[in-house]
Amino acid sequence: MERSWRPDNARVSRALSAAVAIAAVLAALVIVANTALTGIQLGELKLGPILGPAADPNFVPAGAPLGQIGSDPDDPSDPWSAAAPPGGVIVQTAAPNATGSIRIPIPKNIPTGPRRVAIQAGHWKSDEAPDELRRLIPETGAEWEGVTEVEINLDIAQRLSVILNSKGIAVDVLPVTIPVGYVADAFVALHADSDGVGENSGFKMAHGARRGPYEDALLNDIKDSYGAATGLEYDPTHITNQMRGYYPFSWSRFQHAVAAHTPAVILEMGYVSNDDDRALMLDRADLVAGSIADGIMKFLSDTPRSAIFGQDLVVPAFPSRPSRPSPTP
Ligand SMILES: [Zn+2]
Repeated sequence: MERSWRPDNARVSRALSAAVAIAAVLAALVIVANTALTGIQLGELKLGPILGPAADPNFVPAGAPLGQIGSDPDDPSDPWSAAAPPGGVIVQTAAPNATGSIRIPIPKNIPTGPRRVAIQAGHWKSDEAPDELRRLIPETGAEWEGVTEVEINLDIAQRLSVILNSKGIAVDVLPVTIPVGYVADAFVALHADSDGVGENSGFKMAHGARRGPYEDALLNDIKDSYGAATGLEYDPTHITNQMRGYYPFSWSRFQHAVAAHTPAVILEMGYVSNDDDRALMLDRADLVAGSIADGIMKFLSDTPRSAIFGQDLVVPAFPSRPSRPSPTP
């Protein structure tokens, strides 16, 4: 994942001259001090929207189109256009028809205080999915011999939350619905799989694309601790595009997604359809949760918040949106 390493001098000088201009305007406003001051908080100098990314002429606000990602313009569950996430982005196109890149500003709502981690219990409260994720409502998860995936996901998530709390970590146990533009030091989605026949065993992990640079580290830290503690084999051959394209990673498709800066992974903890995997997740749930916590703690101690949120992200742009194909006669 490409990152921006140095500020753009032109942008900096633009921002500086804007700052000088705004200071002059503010001074004038203080003298005049009339109703024109309404909405400007002089006490706090709330100038973010003026000096921040929104001042850039290529700023694209939240929800506005960013280029084509869908293949069928009439399929409502396959968005035709990428859209800017909460906080907006800056489109950087090198030349006409060039692919270009997208600059994702550092989120404004970076957590303060203790490290913050989200554990998503897969499929939990799928019936409460917002309209943009309504296709998830019937996706209630795997089930095998009366054991549901969602009960395992939620049980492990809650145990994991207690363990992380005891280590001073603030935890959000999240259902299917992710808060809009969610920001944390790490996001881990918990699932359990079924192959429908009871043969496969093992655990799987994935992260998304066009995101921050720390997701491989989060994935590998959990993979190492989970594999070592549970004895389960890693099952790379069954990692799917649905895992890599898991909706909370898709900030360009959904507003209810994890902000691109937030390191985010999905863990398929084992196969609920496999007797041994299922017994592990049900009967040794504290060991399972503890091993995930160990991986998360390793990641957090290696990866300071100042690194995760230290700079804007630069990711490849989406293809420019073509005109809609004309209907076939
Ligand atoms: Zn699942």
